[in-house]
Amino acid sequence: MTSKANPCYVCRKLTIETYSKYSKTPICSQKCREIYKTPQIYREYLQEGIEKSIQNAERLLYDAEKLHETERFSSSFLLSCLSLEECAKAHMIWQRKFYKKPIFEKEWNRARAPFKSHLFKLEEVQHMLDYIAKVVDDSGSFERFQKKHAKRLQRSKEANTYVDYNFLKKEWKTPNCGKSDSEVNLRFSRTVLSVIKKLVAQGL
Ligand SMILES: [Zn+2]
Repeated sequence: MTSKANPCYVCRKLTIETYSKYSKTPICSQKCREIYKTPQIYREYLQEGIEKSIQNAERLLYDAEKLHETERFSSSFLLSCLSLEECAKAHMIWQRKFYKKPIFEKEWNRARAPFKSHLFKLEEVQHMLDYIAKVVDDSGSFERFQKKHAKRLQRSKEANTYVDYNFLKKEWKTPNCGKSDSEVNLRFSRTVLSVIKKLVAQGL
């Protein structure tokens, strides 16, 4: 136990108590101790998550470019969507780091699940687009930006992944992304990735 006052790890109020004799982490109260014990990604681990998400976004985008070059447009489209989602993940973690907040396991699972299927229904992806729209000067307004990118992506990601049946038209639909759609998405993903990288490089 130390008598020097340190900020509580959880609430940052000055405290002279420590978590335990085995840990130097200062915790001020039972309430903060409970919060500290809740499964979470502690603040010190967020930067690593940001970097790993960005590296993965870069990998996916690189592969998307290669697939585009070989005219595998639907596959390219899908991978550039996945790259966007990893950028959204990096952005979400960055926000927590910026506000000096951890990510609790429950929040992470909630945020992570939709990454798998429903692109752009996800709150985190919307937050990222919100941010991107403010810095990317190709749309003028968030509303226009949304129309231009979010809706297009929502429609197209699943269509470029799965075979599906249209009951109204009585016909099968298969992934058939064209060159220009694939190109637009690549350009968009490159922009998003570079904005997120700049944001993270500011070291806030
Ligand atoms: Zn506290």
